[in-house]
Amino acid sequence: MTLPRHLAFGTCPASASNNAKAELSTHERVLNFAGYARMKLKRIIVVGANVAGFKATETLRQKGFDGEILLVGAEPHLPYDRPPLSKQILSGELAPAAPAYRDLPWFVDNRIELLLGMQATDLDADARRLTIGNDDIRFDGLVIATGARAREFPMGRPLAGVHTLRTLDDALKLKDELKPGASVVVIGAGFIGAEVASSALSMGAKVTILEAASAPLTRVLGVRLGRTFGEIHAQNGVKLICSAQVNGLRGTERVKSVMLGDGTEIPADVVVVGIGAVPNIEWLANSGLEVSNGLVCDATLNTRHASIYGAGDVARWPNAWSGTTMRSEQWTIAADQGRHAAINLLAGRNGATPFTTIPYFWSDQYGMRIQSMGRTDSEVVMLTGSPDARPFIGVYRDKHRLVGVVTVNAPKAFAILRNKMSENASFEDAVRSVERFTVSA
Ligand SMILES: Cc1cc2nc3c(=O)[nH]c(=O)nc-3n(C[C@H](O)[C@H](O)[C@H](O)COP(=O)(O)OP(=O)(O)OC[C@H]3O[C@@H](n4cnc5c(N)ncnc54)[C@H](O)[C@@H]3O)c2cc1C
Repeated sequence: MTLPRHLAFGTCPASASNNAKAELSTHERVLNFAGYARMKLKRIIVVGANVAGFKATETLRQKGFDGEILLVGAEPHLPYDRPPLSKQILSGELAPAAPAYRDLPWFVDNRIELLLGMQATDLDADARRLTIGNDDIRFDGLVIATGARAREFPMGRPLAGVHTLRTLDDALKLKDELKPGASVVVIGAGFIGAEVASSALSMGAKVTILEAASAPLTRVLGVRLGRTFGEIHAQNGVKLICSAQVNGLRGTERVKSVMLGDGTEIPADVVVVGIGAVPNIEWLANSGLEVSNGLVCDATLNTRHASIYGAGDVARWPNAWSGTTMRSEQWTIAADQGRHAAINLLAGRNGATPFTTIPYFWSDQYGMRIQSMGRTDSEVVMLTGSPDARPFIGVYRDKHRLVGVVTVNAPKAFAILRNKMSENASFEDAVRSVERFTVSA
C-alpha cells in the first residue's frame, strides 16, 4: 500500500495506555547521560522503516514506552518483509504488493507516527536534532536502522533492462521483464543472485549467471560446498560461468549484451546485478557519529552517543559469539537488533546489555530450503551425501566444538543443531544428536 507522505497518529486506545502504565512508566524513566545530564525520554525517532526499524518501534510500545514515536522511512511503503522479493514475489507465488508486517490501523492504534517516502538527510548527534527535508526535529532517543542498498555496477550511463534488487519497487520492475524465453544474465552468484536465477527460471526465462570467483559462495560456505551449489545451478538448467570478469554492458537505450574480459559477449534482454550491498551511512557524514563500513556501535549497539543506537544491516558491532566486529546482512539479526536497541535505549546506559548472536541465514532456491548458522567458511563435514541428494546436513568444526551448520531441506535436524550450537556443544555430541537423520541418508 502506498501511503500519503505524512501520517499523524491516532489516539492511544485505553488498553494500550493501561498496559504501558502496568509494565513500566517509561515516560517517567530517565536516561543517565554518562553522569552529565539526566533527561526524560519523551520523543524517540527511528530512522529506517524496514524490519529493524519496525521491530524497534513495536518493542518500544511492548515495553511500555508511552511517549512519542516517529518512524521515518525513505520508501513509500509500510514496513514490509524483504526476503520474499527475490523468491515468491518474483516467481508470482505472492501478489505483487508489499508483504507488510502490520497494517495501517496497527500503527495508528500504537501511536506510531509514520513519515514515509521521507529521508533523514542530516543529524546533529550532540544537539539531538534530525533533519528531514526542510524540517529539524529534536529527539530524546534515536534508533538508526537505515539498512543497506544494492551495490550498483559501474557502467557509465544507465541502460534499460539493467536491474538491482533491494526494494519492492525494484522487484516489481524486474518481475515485469521476466518473460518466457527472455535471456536473463545475473551478475554475481551469491544467495540473492541464485534466488533471482531460480525465480527467473520458473518464469520461463533462459538464465546465465556470471561469477567472478572460481566457484559460488566459497567465502560463505567454503570451497567444497560452494562448488556443489555451483553444480546445482547447472542441474536446474542455469548456465553458470565462473572466473568471469565483466568488462561492461553493451546497448544504446536498452542493454543488449554483457562483455567479458576474455572477449566473450553474452546476449541479454535483462541483466540483474547481484554484487552485494552497501550500508546507508552517507547521510551521517556530519553527524559526529563514527561511520566506517557501517555505523560503528559498541557491544550494546550504542553509538557511544548515549541516546543513539544502531540496528540492522547498517550497524557494525563487536559480536562476542564470533569475537569479531561484524556488519550482518541477515534478516533475523536485523529483527533481533531492532528489539535489542529499543530495550537498551529504554534501559539507559547503565542498564544496556550486549547484543550477542549466532548468525543465522536461510535461502530458498530451486525447491531447496538452505539454512545456515554460525561460522561456515571452513571445510564442511558432510553428515549425509552432497546437497544435491537431499535432505543434506553439513557441519563445521573448530577443534572439538561445533561452530557452523548448513542444511538443505532438513529443518528438524537444523533446529536440533541450532540448540546444540546455543549450548556450545562438542562436535561429537552435536553429530550424535542428528544421527537418526543421517544413518539412513
Ligand atoms: C531480495 C532480498 C532477499 C533477502 N532474502 C533474505 C533471506 O532469505 N534470509 C535472510 O536472512 N535475509 C535475507 N535478506 C536480507 C534481509 O532482508 C536484510 O538483512 C534486512 O532487510 C535488513 O533490515 P534493515 O531494517 O536493517 O534494513 P533494510 O531492509 O535495508 O531497510 C532500511 C530502510 O531504511 C530506509 N532508509 C535508508 N536511508 C534512509 C534515510 N536516510 N532516511 C529514511 N529512511 C532511510 C531504506 O529505504 C530502507 O527502507 C534479503 C534481502 C534482499 C534485498
